[in-house]
Amino acid sequence: MLDQHVSYEVPAAGYRRYSQALTQAGFAGAIEDNYASRLLAATDNSVYQLLPQLVIFPRDTADLQLALQLAQREDFLDLTFSPRGGGTGTNGQSLNQGIIIDLSRTFKNILEIAPEQAWVRCQTGVVKDALNDAVREHGLFFSPDLSTSNRATIGGMINTDASGQGSLVYGKTSDHILGLQAVLINGEVIETAPVSVAEAQRRAHGESMEASLYRQAIATCIGKRSAIEAKFPPLNRFLTGYDLKHCYDPQAQTIDLSRLLAGSEGTLAFITEAKLNLTAIPRHKVLVNISYRNFDAALRHAPVLVKARATSVETIDNTVLNLARNDIIWDSVREHLSEGQADQPMDGINMVEYTAVDQAEIDAKLQQLIAILERELEAGANNQHGVVGYKICDQADSIQTIYAMRKKAVGLLGAVKGERKPIAFAEDTAVPPESLADFISEFRGLLDQHELQYGMFGHVDAGVLHVRPALDMKVPADEQMLRRISDKVAALTAKYGGLMWGEHGKGFRSEYAPTFFGPELYTELQKIKAAFDPDNRLNPGKLATPFGHPTAQLVSVDARKRGFFDRQIPIAARASYQAALNCNGNGLCFNYAEASPMCPSYKVTGDRRNSPKGRATLIREWLRLNAREGVDVSAEAPQKSWFWRFPKRQNASDFNHQVKASMDACLACKACASECPVKVDVPQFRAKFLQWYYHLYRRPLRDYLVASVERTVPLMAKWPRISNALTHNGLSQWLFAKVFGYVDTPKLSVPNLQQQWQQDWLSGNVEQLQAMDAKERQNIVVIVQDPFTSFYQAEVVVAFAKVVARMGYQPYLLDFIGNGKALHVKGFLSQFRRVVQRVSKQLNAVAELAIPMVGLDAATVLVMRDEYREFRGAPQNYKVQLVHEWLCEHLAELQQFKGVHEGSADLLTHCTEQTAVPTTAKQWQQVFASVGKTIKPVATGCCGMAGTYGHEIEQLEHSKRLFAMSWQQPLAASAQPLATGFSCRCQTHRMQATETTKLRQDVRHPVQLLADLLS
Ligand SMILES: Cc1cc2nc3c(=O)[nH]c(=O)nc-3n(C[C@H](O)[C@H](O)[C@H](O)COP(=O)(O)OP(=O)(O)OC[C@H]3O[C@@H](n4cnc5c(N)ncnc54)[C@H](O)[C@@H]3O)c2cc1C
Ligand code: SF4
Ligand code: SF4
Repeated sequence: MLDQHVSYEVPAAGYRRYSQALTQAGFAGAIEDNYASRLLAATDNSVYQLLPQLVIFPRDTADLQLALQLAQREDFLDLTFSPRGGGTGTNGQSLNQGIIIDLSRTFKNILEIAPEQAWVRCQTGVVKDALNDAVREHGLFFSPDLSTSNRATIGGMINTDASGQGSLVYGKTSDHILGLQAVLINGEVIETAPVSVAEAQRRAHGESMEASLYRQAIATCIGKRSAIEAKFPPLNRFLTGYDLKHCYDPQAQTIDLSRLLAGSEGTLAFITEAKLNLTAIPRHKVLVNISYRNFDAALRHAPVLVKARATSVETIDNTVLNLARNDIIWDSVREHLSEGQADQPMDGINMVEYTAVDQAEIDAKLQQLIAILERELEAGANNQHGVVGYKICDQADSIQTIYAMRKKAVGLLGAVKGERKPIAFAEDTAVPPESLADFISEFRGLLDQHELQYGMFGHVDAGVLHVRPALDMKVPADEQMLRRISDKVAALTAKYGGLMWGEHGKGFRSEYAPTFFGPELYTELQKIKAAFDPDNRLNPGKLATPFGHPTAQLVSVDARKRGFFDRQIPIAARASYQAALNCNGNGLCFNYAEASPMCPSYKVTGDRRNSPKGRATLIREWLRLNAREGVDVSAEAPQKSWFWRFPKRQNASDFNHQVKASMDACLACKACASECPVKVDVPQFRAKFLQWYYHLYRRPLRDYLVASVERTVPLMAKWPRISNALTHNGLSQWLFAKVFGYVDTPKLSVPNLQQQWQQDWLSGNVEQLQAMDAKERQNIVVIVQDPFTSFYQAEVVVAFAKVVARMGYQPYLLDFIGNGKALHVKGFLSQFRRVVQRVSKQLNAVAELAIPMVGLDAATVLVMRDEYREFRGAPQNYKVQLVHEWLCEHLAELQQFKGVHEGSADLLTHCTEQTAVPTTAKQWQQVFASVGKTIKPVATGCCGMAGTYGHEIEQLEHSKRLFAMSWQQPLAASAQPLATGFSCRCQTHRMQATETTKLRQDVRHPVQLLADLLS
């Protein structure tokens, strides 16, 4: 069947009309009605999936007002809206089947910083860590913490009243709001801040919506004060959404509407700006790791630790602890933990942190805690609180190591094998800390009774417990279990005087609100909602329905879930695209930080379709839609002749193209494969998708050019001068750009590698190696060539050979046998399979001779370790080492070359290597330290080249912007820059040619510097 285009649901007619009217009205932002954008706004980190009709990105407040004012037109009155920030909510807070208004792309400005008064004013699409980057130089920070701080926005934090570690001292987001700007459903803009009750009464007069808000706030928050005080639990994680208790301050006699908006989950207004107070950055920090005989003992000790004035007390249960114990990370933390005694081993832990601006303050608190712990230990094995030991970390890196262990172990929980995966639905309960141990004991009983796997961790100081039981939402029985457990957890938290939503907000758990608040106060919440949104158009169904609304209903945990869609994908297709299915939407790949490798294509486009989550989401839907059309995409696509494939313009409404556009923007840098907590490996499924896509549509000629590189380049490199002259004249450059869409190809090395290879060094094929006797082979180091370094930067291979020779070994240049990376990247999978099997056969033969093998280019070496696995057929018994890996095994030999070398060099590692082999920079430091040279690693993201991406004409602009983002500045500042990646060196070389970059010199591979130092 030739016509295999994949159709999808288009927006409903009313929404299409609204979209057109909005454009005509002069809306300046983006209006996205394509299926891919809508899918991206259909999920967050929860189990729910609701497809919106449109996603709009207003450019500024006026634009947002325009959109909402237009929605007041008679024919648009049934349209609904939900605000969205980072989309990291765990309970579907930002999901809606109407229009999503996303402020995260455009509302990103820091507007004003007042260091003397310690406040900042910003737009609400600013990411929390970005805000802290902006104020750090003033010694200040925005202190409410949350784990998603590198992608959650200030708007999202305000609307979920976010908080996390250290909340006893730093409070919740609402504790730091000095004022807000918000746009109401009718387009009216209000400014909120505490005002005297008299002023509130004055503002309550009139016809404006703002007046009715003040009328209702006074009536509820002052009028119902005693009922509110009786109901709201006295917890650190106080009850928000809507925070009736703190909206009125009886001491100060003020009313503050900001307190109603904080935690309102987008149900009352769009918050566009926030004035936030800042806290002095604590200069001193100490972490005391207390070991217990079990988890229960750790929990029961928490109140004592809180009384000892800790900034935070964090815990992990024995499941999480054991995950850490069995992970490589344990090697780095064991010295900072007391393992207890032989008869009382550690099986529980509390991490107690003290922070202060002043060291004396920390010392005093620490002494108090140590006295408590020593008394426990003196009481012997059966001491009251089960303390079996403690250790103090007072260095930043040891503290960091302990938190990294906690973070990694929690991440490992998410990567459990099997179809049941940890999911959020009762993951942030809060009870009074003194009841936490009993509460957890009952909670565990409930989960054990259902035979569920889980790990627990939390902020014991605040009584907050994090637990994500593993369920398979594709299975209807597990979906029903979610409902049963939710009900029981809601009842359990109520029994212990706590909250089911201690940290992450209510979302689809809003159905429990009426029971929790009771009829009198729930009615007050409804009246507040009615004052802001009488027609139930703002994030409808969340938190409360408007008072008096005839049809409005609360959402429930039975809402449509992602599992409903995933279960429609055939099992074989799920297995083939498992990585995409595994994405749980936590949004770590939306990391804003430019110096982080994750994910360059999202960073440079700012479009969530171009993120790992975006690609996983689109692939899942693509699998489902194909299954619906009866197409089996799990099989390798049949090959058709080029002539018969469709020109791309046919079937423009084909969803295949939307998926393809997202895949095209991927650099195949592989950061996702390592950095994502569940290892969503986009290049792996991207290659499969491309292979499928190109059995339907014609490939661009460029792909064939790239795919043939391993055959053509070795030939061209035999006569490098002639080849360079043929390929680098004006006409051929023009043809390359016009015909292939390919620019800035590097020049072949002159002289070529063979010409530079010294006479006394060896070279040849595997058979020649086999023909040698054991003695001849004993000092050989085989260089496994890649198609880039060998032909375009032969001097790097030569430098490595020089190092090898100086160290007393014999370099052996193995004849070029190929690698196949380019074939995989472009989705030529059957050809890739053939290369993998051929290369593996040859390298297996070398491995049998017990000769070390080293590859110069990390990106191609790592393909052998990763992509090869699925295609190799026979077992792979060889390991090609990276240069630094081999050198690190020979540090003692390097020390004979130790000298005194002035200055330090800066090391920029290739992003694939950085994420797949995170020890790279450290190992290079060790290598150079052995010869007396200092190397400083520089944190960078992707250089923007990533193999072929940077040469593709349609990606050129993005490639250059990526370079400017995190490479240009450190390179310009460096006197001696080194880069491990071939792509990175090529990119730097090309950017050197431009006037704007101000790069002083070419970057070299570190092994070139090493060769100089050894010579
Ligand atoms: C792995 C993981 C760990 C987490 N850890 C924590 C934690 O430690 N502490 C914590 O508090 N939370 C935590 N969360 C939950 C989540 O990150 C927070 O709720 C966060 O504040 C949401 O911010 P966001 O920008 O992603 O908002 P979104 O998810 O986009 O939206 C959240 C709510 O805010 C509303 N909203 C967003 N922007 C606006 C705006 N400008 N105006 C009006 N309404 C708006 C939305 O409609 C929605 O109701 C965690 C989530 C995950 C996935
Ligand atoms: S791709 Fe990975 S990091 Fe991104 S949302 Fe999915 S699971 Fe999280
Ligand atoms: S390979 Fe790189 S660019 Fe592509 S999705 Fe993964 S992190 Fe993003």
